[in-house]
Amino acid sequence: MRILVVEDEAKVASFIKRALEEENYAVDACADGVRGLELALTGTYDIIVLDLMLPALPGIEVLKRLRAGKILTPVLILTAQSQLTQKIEGLDAGADDYLTKPFAIEELLARVRVLLRRGPGEAAGILQIDDLVLNPATRDVTRGGQRIDLTAKEYALLEYFMRNPGRVLTRPMISEHVWNLDFDTFTNVIDVYVNYLRNKIDRGRDRKLIHTVRGSGYILKSEG
Ligand code: CA
Repeated sequence: MRILVVEDEAKVASFIKRALEEENYAVDACADGVRGLELALTGTYDIIVLDLMLPALPGIEVLKRLRAGKILTPVLILTAQSQLTQKIEGLDAGADDYLTKPFAIEELLARVRVLLRRGPGEAAGILQIDDLVLNPATRDVTRGGQRIDLTAKEYALLEYFMRNPGRVLTRPMISEHVWNLDFDTFTNVIDVYVNYLRNKIDRGRDRKLIHTVRGSGYILKSEG
C-alpha cells in the first residue's frame, strides 16, 4: 500500500511518514500543493493524506482538481482549525474523512486502515448498477462509459433509484424523497420524470434498467 502525504510543516510530515512506515506502508511526502497534485494525479496511491493550508496550491484545490481528473483515491484531509466550514467544504469536494490538528497518530493510523478497507470506488461513494455509473461527488453519470446529461430533477431521481437498487419504489416514496411534496397532486409528474430518465438511460439499449411494477411503482435492476 502506497500513501502520499502532502504537508508543509516538516515536523508533522516526518512524524506522519515515520508512523506510516512503521506500519509497513510505502510513503511519499511532499510539502506543497502543486507537487502534491502532480504526484496524486499519477493515480498510484492507495490513500492521500492532505493538509489544507499549503503553499503554492491550497489543499482544497488539490482535492477538487484530483476529483475533476477522475482520480478517486481516498483522501484524508488535515485541518489546522476545527472550523466546521472547512471540513464541510473538504467533504463536499470529495474528501473521505478528516482529522483536526492536533491529532493522535493512532487515530490517523486507524482512519487510514478504514479507508484502505473501503477501497477507492466505495470510498468516493460511486454507485454502479450494470454499466450505469453515478458519481455523487461530481454528479457525473455514465452508461457503458458514455456520459449522460441529466437535469437536476432527473439526477435526483436517478440517485434515489441507485441508492435503492432491486427495491420497488412506490410513487409516494419517490415523491417524498425526490420532491419533498405531497403525493396526491404529483403522481403524473413522477411518471413523466421516470419517462424522461428512461429515455436517457435505457432508450436504444439491450438491457433495460428501470422497470415498471404494475400497481406499485418502479424498480431499478439489471436483469429482465
Ligand atoms: Ca499547513
